[in-house]
Amino acid sequence: MPFIFLGNALWLDFVNTQIIDGALIDLIGNDGAFLQWAKTADLQADEDDAATFDAALTEAQAFRAHLRAAADSLAAGTALNPVFVADINRRMAEHPVATVLEDSGRGWATSAKPVTSGPQSVLAAIATDFARFVSTEATNVRHCSNERCCIVFYDTSKNHTRRWCSMETCGNRAKAAGRRARVVQ
Ligand SMILES: [Zn+2]
Repeated sequence: MPFIFLGNALWLDFVNTQIIDGALIDLIGNDGAFLQWAKTADLQADEDDAATFDAALTEAQAFRAHLRAAADSLAAGTALNPVFVADINRRMAEHPVATVLEDSGRGWATSAKPVTSGPQSVLAAIATDFARFVSTEATNVRHCSNERCCIVFYDTSKNHTRRWCSMETCGNRAKAAGRRARVVQ
């Protein structure tokens, strides 16, 4: 199953490596998948580190769960867990991450890139992106409106009216369901 990059923020894309498609699916749950995700996300990840990435999977999954809780907090406007914030700071302090200025296609944007390869650096880049996000954007974190979908995203639409992770999937499904409901009535 392909990775999903619909979050408009690296840390949300990482949260979205866990999806619901009938059942809960972990897109980085298989051997090698966490490394592949990091490569697809354009983070420094070396095939030689495959075993190291696999060994770090449990930690990555736990960190992801905390990031999801943070996304829920931001969406609900509630306070972040101070233990989680301390963990973000620890990861940023222990593993060097470079801030890179890039043309995103929609203007200039900074992104966090690991300086060295390895899973800890990838998690630190994700932590740095979270820190950037929460200190600059912080609002408009949304859950997909499909109750059977767990994708979260940063709504960058003009009037902040984005409802779906993707029009192609959940958006169209909702439209089709609406049409069916009208036919039944
Ligand atoms: Zn969705």
